[in-house]
Amino acid sequence: MKNLIILGGGESGVGAAILGKDKGWNVFLSDSGQIAPRYREMLDKEGIEWEEGHHSMDRIMAADEVVKSPGIPPTAPPVVAVTEKGIPVVSEIEFAGRYTDARMVCITGSNGKTTTTLLTYHMLRKAGLDVGLAGNVGKSLALQVAREPHEVYVIELSSFQLENMYRFHANIAMILNITPDHLDRYEYKMQNYVNAKFRILNNLTPRDAFIYWQDDPVIKAQMERVTTEASLYPFAEHHEDGTAAWVDDEGTLCVDAPAEHLRMPRAELSLNGLHNLYNSMAAALTGCIMDIRKEDIREALSDFEGVEHRLERCGTVNGVVWINDSKATNVNSTWYALESMPKGVVLILGGKDKGNDYNEILPLVKEKVKAIVCMGKDNSKLMDFFGGQVAELRDTHSLEDAVAACAELAKPGDTVLLSPCCASFDLFKSYEDRGRQFKEAVSRIKN
Ligand code: ADP
Repeated sequence: MKNLIILGGGESGVGAAILGKDKGWNVFLSDSGQIAPRYREMLDKEGIEWEEGHHSMDRIMAADEVVKSPGIPPTAPPVVAVTEKGIPVVSEIEFAGRYTDARMVCITGSNGKTTTTLLTYHMLRKAGLDVGLAGNVGKSLALQVAREPHEVYVIELSSFQLENMYRFHANIAMILNITPDHLDRYEYKMQNYVNAKFRILNNLTPRDAFIYWQDDPVIKAQMERVTTEASLYPFAEHHEDGTAAWVDDEGTLCVDAPAEHLRMPRAELSLNGLHNLYNSMAAALTGCIMDIRKEDIREALSDFEGVEHRLERCGTVNGVVWINDSKATNVNSTWYALESMPKGVVLILGGKDKGNDYNEILPLVKEKVKAIVCMGKDNSKLMDFFGGQVAELRDTHSLEDAVAACAELAKPGDTVLLSPCCASFDLFKSYEDRGRQFKEAVSRIKN
């Protein structure tokens, strides 16, 4: 029996362990931190050996193959040690991909992955396909392949997951956009991050499709360097050479794929904003390539309810609209949030700054933002940068104070937008925690 070592006992690691055991591997899972109780129970129930709080290197070095959780960097000591010994290290998606012939729709990008993944999943389900949701959202691909196999999977792939994928074969690959993110993990070299994203093209054949944003300068530059046999489906706001999805001068969304041509008014899309137009186009292209009925595609694009913490409207109080975009943890996603707003925005910014350059949003701030409320442990960078750029700038250090300041500053017709540009870890457990607390605070002022 061959030894499979799993590093990391989260959703992907536990799924890979269960699949590995089912497929006849001798599995051992090791996590240097604590494993959540429900995952410990799953492993025990399956009779899979595990350890937490340390790595037993003697056992790890006896591996024939290692499945590494995407959260563990390639520089972690056990990963370095096995790599030096020549033991293959793969991601859970790579591992699971070996044991299924299902059709794979794989979605990556710096922003918009979750939204587009869930929208595409919603569309394929509506069309009656037997579809699973995997990757960063939903259950691990490995667990589904082992216990509830589907005919199609929609998979959200981060650059971390893509790093350890080699032979995995997507049928539809999608890159929504590439802007600087996670550069700390890529030796601060943008090209390394771009290369990781483009691994999604590995192994595409002429029968496969590649969907991408045609106007993205980073994608454009990389397309000149790489080759792929797949059919290309670029999307753009306006039609150019070869564009497969665009909006015409009458405001009609046009999608052209050999299997299906679709036309629908842009105004019928349920998701607002330019960024969501792109996400909707990418999902619609997938539907057309997969030859799904036009009615199902149209209906899915117009009744999708959106995703929590992404431009989520959480209520109107005294004529002021409150919007939770807590997932905007980088400057680019806040740019798109502001782009989709009317004038009269009270903007909550702040948290853990990942080396942000706020110049990117400055023109939109000047055009649309009447007040900025900084919410973070240390707001000095924001206070310095935006001082003198907006009519009102407030320095707050808790959610309660930030919401109180917004309630005071916003007048009927204005919008309060939590789209912080920053990670949440200074004051909150996660962006979800930040978004939920924000919504609770809004409902308190409602009542
Ligand atoms: P991801 O899963 O890639 O982090 P999400 O769908 O969770 O992306 O959205 C993250 C943030 O990025 C949200 O604040 C959202 O408003 C913004 N966003 C969504 N789609 C795009 C896009 N296509 N381009 C830029 N920003 C986007």
